[in-house]
Amino acid sequence: MILHPVGFIVWWFVIGLLVGSFLNVAIHRLPLEGESVNRPRRSRCPNCRTELTWKDNVPVLSWVVLRGRCRTCSWGIPWRYPFVELLTASLWGFLAWRSGPEAWPLVAVQSLVFAGLIVATFVDFDCFEIPDEVSIGGMIVAPILSLLVPSLHSQTRLALELSDGGSVDRVGALLGSLAGLVVGGGVLWGIGWLGTKIFRRDAMGFGDVKLLAAGGGFVGPGGALLALFLGTCVASVAGLLNMVRFLCLSRARARSRGSRKPLRKAVRVARIAGRYLPFGPYLGIGIGIVLVAWNHVMELWNELLF
Ligand SMILES: [Zn+2]
Repeated sequence: MILHPVGFIVWWFVIGLLVGSFLNVAIHRLPLEGESVNRPRRSRCPNCRTELTWKDNVPVLSWVVLRGRCRTCSWGIPWRYPFVELLTASLWGFLAWRSGPEAWPLVAVQSLVFAGLIVATFVDFDCFEIPDEVSIGGMIVAPILSLLVPSLHSQTRLALELSDGGSVDRVGALLGSLAGLVVGGGVLWGIGWLGTKIFRRDAMGFGDVKLLAAGGGFVGPGGALLALFLGTCVASVAGLLNMVRFLCLSRARARSRGSRKPLRKAVRVARIAGRYLPFGPYLGIGIGIVLVAWNHVMELWNELLF
């Protein structure tokens, strides 16, 4: 039975809301020792540990009804909770709209990848690490899912070359996935190795290496390189904005104290402070863009170059 295209989008959006609610739990619990996504069984308020009833656990709506406060202890529930739910639902709805109900296996796999990227992004922002459940888990399931849903690699030239005929066959998709794993992990590991040799400090976290390896398993070797390039561009802009933010903060503080700290010193402090940004979220953005818009990125690339 195939759903009507609009019904499919709405249905997938609602499932995305529920999954987003689960991702919030994963983001909160994965970095913690002794807790896992299914233990303790029920969701609790992170502040007063009161178990939540279903009424206080409805995605987005509960947050709005409770005006962002816990019912028991009125702890301010971060806006990140409804944001993650809406983000997951919007991305899932977008994937459903883009491929339609006939391609539901592709929609399901791409939705799963986006769910993993959302968890990796927010855990990395919180604790500067990417959970192995996401990165190593992704590396394991990428070849299996490529074998089951070969259309995942229909944009990858390598997979097309390996297959005979126009569409990607299972073997081509599997080889494309494995090549993506090796190239994605290898190139970032190599950059990190060079960085340690040249700058004599850890330039690259191993979590990022595993994340791009997993991503490469879904987008193939060329896609992994493109994702790294896009991620680096976005990270550079974010790093620059972060530095400007620190600069403005320190200038404002100096002005309120009436001190006349030279601008040069403030710039130096901002450069050091601005450097500490996790790379995982930007790598995740790069992988996400390649996953859904590989063709568009390449078209834009060709237009800009030629
Ligand atoms: Zn509470």
